[in-house]
Amino acid sequence: MSKIAMKTPLVEMDGDEMTRVLWAMIKDKLILPYIDLKTQYYDLGLLHRNETQDAVTAEAAAATKRLGVAVKCATITPNAQRMEEYPQLTEMWRSPNGTIRAILDGTVFRAPITVKNIRPLVPNWQRPITVARHAYGDMYRAAEFRTEEPGTATLRFVGESGAVTEKEVAKLSPGAILQGMHNLDASIGHFAEACFRYALDQRQDLWFSTKDTISKIYDGRFKEIFDGVFEQYRTDFKKYGLSYFYTLIDDAVARVMRSGGGFVWALKNYDGDVMSDMVSTVFGSLAMMTSILVSPDGKYEYEAAHGTVTRHYYRHLKGEKTSTNPVATIFAWTGALKKRGELDGLPDLADFAEKLERAALDTIEAGDMTADLATLAVGQVRILNSEDFLDAIARRMN
Ligand code: NAP
Ligand code: MG
Repeated sequence: MSKIAMKTPLVEMDGDEMTRVLWAMIKDKLILPYIDLKTQYYDLGLLHRNETQDAVTAEAAAATKRLGVAVKCATITPNAQRMEEYPQLTEMWRSPNGTIRAILDGTVFRAPITVKNIRPLVPNWQRPITVARHAYGDMYRAAEFRTEEPGTATLRFVGESGAVTEKEVAKLSPGAILQGMHNLDASIGHFAEACFRYALDQRQDLWFSTKDTISKIYDGRFKEIFDGVFEQYRTDFKKYGLSYFYTLIDDAVARVMRSGGGFVWALKNYDGDVMSDMVSTVFGSLAMMTSILVSPDGKYEYEAAHGTVTRHYYRHLKGEKTSTNPVATIFAWTGALKKRGELDGLPDLADFAEKLERAALDTIEAGDMTADLATLAVGQVRILNSEDFLDAIARRMN
């Protein structure tokens, strides 16, 4: 059988621990037998990031800007405990995802992978709901303090010209807390661009919600910017029968709960933080959740939403066969290959990715799955270790 050819290489970002083990297995069993794989390989494993003073992360992000599509393995973000575990670390390196997101100026879309035998906790959510969270500003970059003294709080801005704008916030009785936050037109605009682009890609409606009845200027500006960006997408949305729907956040929550799913829900930073955990819990498992970083100029990075599954890795190191779920990592690969196929006009490549996704889902729907899904699934269940599960998918592919 001849292998499927590629044109442009994928940016391949390898990672850490159990997901690094799965990464190699997925390539060996599910990708390399079928695809004449072209990648530019970057080792984002913690020790290699350390050796390169983290330059490798920035290089991988730059390659993504150049080539357009990346697939990333989960990586360790070092904390105090990791500094003890890896004494050779010269610095507590920053989160690679944070670095890449900043360089690409991207928005993260979290999308669940759904199978028939795992019923969402909200029974009417028959189709996936993708959450897009704005990742800049608001309370995450706020100044705040507490005061015991009574007084007057004001919000004050000094322009570069020296012009001062000042507004009274409140006259405070003793014992008060204060917070000042901001956002930027450019950041909101890029977020909106990424949301419309992603929804169009997925052929799904876009929902957006804020509280602009209360916050007329701040949240009102979010709404205005989304409305403006929509004008650039209106024709394309119409062409594919898609809609852009704005409603107040509380109304949106009520409508989302009653909906059948199948749309992209764009949210401000805090709302997205909260709602993405709610949505992923309803759909069952972090191991069945993908994460796609989309930049406003249309660069894509695909990965699993979960981490490096450390506890399983330590069992793996002891020689145990673990039942770690590789599905989200498989979908990171298929997402990237599909996008590459679309961009390079290679229908066979996109078609292969679809088939691999179908084979993974069919395997689970036939009752063969990893341990994390066994408690969630209805009907017949056989628990397999990761390797046997991947082999079961490979048999379906053949
Ligand atoms: P985690 O790796 O997502 O794992 C937390 C727990 O969730 C696991 O112990 C496991 O539960 C379950 N789990 C997650 N993914 C699974 C899978 N594919 N199959 C089966 N079970 C799965 O989160 P963490 O332990 O908090 O973080 C570990 C490391 O990952 C940290 O160093 C963190 O910095 C990094 N991290 C990276 C990313 C990223 O690169 N995108 C994201 C998050 C975290 P049981 O042990 O109960 O089976
Ligand atoms: Mg959170």
